[in-house]
Amino acid sequence: MLECLRQITQEVNLATDTQQALTIVVNRVCDTLGCEVSSIYLADYQNQQLVLMATRGLNPKAAGVLQLNFNQGIVGLVAQREEPLNLDDAPAHPNFHYFPEAGEEPFYAFLGAPIIHQRKVIGVLVAQQKAPRQFSESEENFLVTLAAQLAGLIAESKKRDTLSAPQSESHLVRKLDGFPAASGIAVGSAMVFYPPADLDGIPDKPAKSIAAEVKRIKKAFRLAQNEIATMKDRMENVLGPEELSLFDAYANILDKNGLIKDVLVEIEQGQWAPGALRRAVDQHTRVFEAIEDPYFRERATDLRDLARRVLIYLENDRTARPKLHKNAILVADEISAGMLAELPIDKILGIVSMRGSPTSHAAILAKALGIPAVCGFDNVPINRFEGQKLIIDGYQGALFIAPDESLVSFYQELAKEEAKLVKNLEQDMELPSETTDGHNIPLLVNTGLIADFEKSLHVGSDGVGLYRTEIPFLLREQFPGEQEQIRIYRSVLEAFKDKSVTFRTLDIGGDKQLPYFPIIEDNPFLGWRGIRVTLDHPEIFLVQVKAILTAAIGRNDIRISLPMISSVDEVEQSRRLIEQAFHEVQLAHPDETVSMPEIGIILEVPSAIYQLPFIAEQVDFICVGSNDLAQYLLAVDRNNTRVSSLYSNYHPAVLGALYQIRAICYEQEIPLNLCGEMAGDPMAALLLVGLGFDSLSMNARSLLKVKKVIRTFSKADAEAITKEALTYPRPNQVYNLLFQEFEKRQLGSLIRAGR
Ligand code: PEP
Ligand code: MG
Repeated sequence: MLECLRQITQEVNLATDTQQALTIVVNRVCDTLGCEVSSIYLADYQNQQLVLMATRGLNPKAAGVLQLNFNQGIVGLVAQREEPLNLDDAPAHPNFHYFPEAGEEPFYAFLGAPIIHQRKVIGVLVAQQKAPRQFSESEENFLVTLAAQLAGLIAESKKRDTLSAPQSESHLVRKLDGFPAASGIAVGSAMVFYPPADLDGIPDKPAKSIAAEVKRIKKAFRLAQNEIATMKDRMENVLGPEELSLFDAYANILDKNGLIKDVLVEIEQGQWAPGALRRAVDQHTRVFEAIEDPYFRERATDLRDLARRVLIYLENDRTARPKLHKNAILVADEISAGMLAELPIDKILGIVSMRGSPTSHAAILAKALGIPAVCGFDNVPINRFEGQKLIIDGYQGALFIAPDESLVSFYQELAKEEAKLVKNLEQDMELPSETTDGHNIPLLVNTGLIADFEKSLHVGSDGVGLYRTEIPFLLREQFPGEQEQIRIYRSVLEAFKDKSVTFRTLDIGGDKQLPYFPIIEDNPFLGWRGIRVTLDHPEIFLVQVKAILTAAIGRNDIRISLPMISSVDEVEQSRRLIEQAFHEVQLAHPDETVSMPEIGIILEVPSAIYQLPFIAEQVDFICVGSNDLAQYLLAVDRNNTRVSSLYSNYHPAVLGALYQIRAICYEQEIPLNLCGEMAGDPMAALLLVGLGFDSLSMNARSLLKVKKVIRTFSKADAEAITKEALTYPRPNQVYNLLFQEFEKRQLGSLIRAGR
């Protein structure tokens, strides 16, 4: 059964559209269970109906036509009860309903399994047989397992359909729902960026000159052939004749009668060379992978491997990276700091990152740059995006493909409103961040990209609450040395001349991978991250701290924060190293004033809450990293779109933890800041004021919105609202309370624009 399920999944994965996928399933179910009928009904929630979408054995004309109400017939019962039903005499069941148009009367045996995706019934998979028969337990398990797998496959396949839906369809059909990563609206056309040698990421694109593309591909194949021949020569004395013959097989794939024939056909039809290569490889692997024999499946892997070699030669050949066209919306599997560094940021209208969720680092980068962005479109093939007209709705997390003019003008109006709001907020720039009853809450920025400095200064921030030192590390090809780091940190201090700056020591691991220091782990967010890496590598830590202290010579207002602290020992060890660095810098600069910085922790690991009374004795300040703290408290991976809906800044567990942290800091008289994305969410910021946080640090784009909130509420009101919020057991109750308070004060527009 397992092999059978694997094969069905494989075939469905290769289907070109949802309808083809469903047809494959019903055929395979009949073959596997040896029954006459198999059908799939899909839910149409708008009309509250189940629609027969594919069938083998019932009247084929009923497909797409037969509709039953959710509570009609045995199929409806399966959907309603959300569990399988196995009957040997279906017509005797009280819910049996005869549908003459389906021609199902004589079928006695019935087995149905609900198809459920993300807790919602999206359809029913059915098997039927003429003769009365009880399907066995193993057959029932097969259908249930297949239905569970099918749920994800249908959802993915529907996303793929969205990419090719004609413009005449309603815009809802051409909408993909993801997550808001950075607020704002963008209307433009897609430019796909893919990492080097990534075969699957290559977009379809028309060839500018067919002759030039033919020449290019032939050259790349020739070079790959030479490489294989050299490899074979090198291995001649190491491998036996049998293993060596593998190289001959590779050479055959690459010779003029092999793969290239199909690649050339694609080019002749107008595809550019890399796209033609990907398409030809897909066709070949589809054939290989459909064969049961593991030998052929291995050949599919070889083929892809060889194609990747050809692709490397093709890419080396390209004269330059594609230039950004006007109105470009960047589409990539995952946006990285390195990718953005290569591009003229002011020319990017919007960003679509297939992976990630609102608090992933890709989203944080987009937010910092003020570029509208959406993310979290798992399994949508990015190669189908190139050149597509897109609308990004960075408020809702929606992406519209090939929108019509009316939708474009609707969104252009929204963009105008947002611009008006920003203009209004800018009037508060010089005003203090003070509640109506006179409490000052300094607002700082989170930064790391030079491109972001100007905006941070422009919004009138009180300083830098979080300088993410890993960002300049991510943009290089090796660890930057001490002198280079001194230059980087000086540029920060020069930009923020009279304002305090908090440097966070290197925070890599998790979803922040240095290209030159890969950390490969099964569970990266629970692994070697932040301070754990740098304490294991004191040579990296010491160089960084010395560079920070040297850059700050003459200033006494800089602070150092330590990421991912989970124990007292880590604080002690870090302090010791910082003191060592301090003495070394003092020795190296005997005639200058080197100041010992204030040292604090980023409180983002739950264990640190319980260690806080001890940690507080050793540090000067606490800064809550709410992105990670919520991730660990709620056990929700920041990057995993399947569970992102469980992540909430309004979750009572998060608020309870913050309340506890505040109480300990108050008792120990230690200043408390928060530097996660939560601080930049206007509604959550009100709670932080109410909880008694001393200052808030956020992306520059949110600062004026949060200032507006602070200047509208009194601290006493914020405290009363927070007190009430803390009594609620559910995140949505907290949200609704805040929503009402904002509406009462005409701050509704900040909520929509607040993400
Ligand atoms: C956090 O975790 O809240 C934080 C500020 O750090 P980062 O988002 O860089 O992990
Ligand atoms: Mg963090």
